[in-house]
Amino acid sequence: MNDIKDNIAAVEQHIEDACASCGRERADVKLIAVSKTKPLEALQEAYDYGCRDFGENKVQELVEKYEAMPKDIRWHMIGHLQRNKVKYIVDKVFLIHSVDSLRLAQEIEKEAAKKDVTVNILVEVNVAKEESKFGTTAEEAALLVEAIAKLPHIQVRGLMTIAPYVEDSEKNRLYFEKLKQIYVDIIHKNIDNVFMEELSMGMTGDYEVAITEGATYVRVGTGIFGERNYASI
Ligand SMILES: *Cc1c(COP(=O)(O)O)cnc(C)c1O
Repeated sequence: MNDIKDNIAAVEQHIEDACASCGRERADVKLIAVSKTKPLEALQEAYDYGCRDFGENKVQELVEKYEAMPKDIRWHMIGHLQRNKVKYIVDKVFLIHSVDSLRLAQEIEKEAAKKDVTVNILVEVNVAKEESKFGTTAEEAALLVEAIAKLPHIQVRGLMTIAPYVEDSEKNRLYFEKLKQIYVDIIHKNIDNVFMEELSMGMTGDYEVAITEGATYVRVGTGIFGERNYASI
């Protein structure tokens, strides 16, 4: 297995190439190292190489790693979030990518108000309409953004999607394109308290395609840390 540092260098090169291929600036795409299931030593290695954005999908794991790792890390909650767990992370996360209902947003609002913080969120859209995935529908995304925008302790920063697992990443291009279109439509609505600036899309298998369709955050796990072994945890 490759060294984590070599993997990050390779991913960085791919991001640079993808940006160059479509005339985007490298600085406009941020790499999130998705460290779920991985031990602290692996995160530390990525940190030492320069990574400051880490993605986790479980509340308890995020909190444990938050406590153990350096404080200048930006933690991204990228997994499905249960309402009863919101209280553990509102003051620890930099960005919650997975808000898919008004009820969840209201819970975030309540806990953020208690702790007197403002929480940055993305609205997750199930663009590909996969039954196994969370996320609001493409049709409802704008209405949900509008409703969440009224909550004073939440700031909507953009949209997120998880594309299907495919062998040929080109097959996901239409989903990335669609998310970008929803995003542009919402920008044109000029909703108060909404700052549409982030598109979180693209994982190990398809981040280069996502970049050419406008991703500002790519979430890469396997490509940095290697395969995940769920049996060991
Ligand atoms: C696990 C995960 C990723 C990273 O997946 P890889 O294919 O390992 O890069 C990205 N986004 C979300 C929401 C995830 O749960």
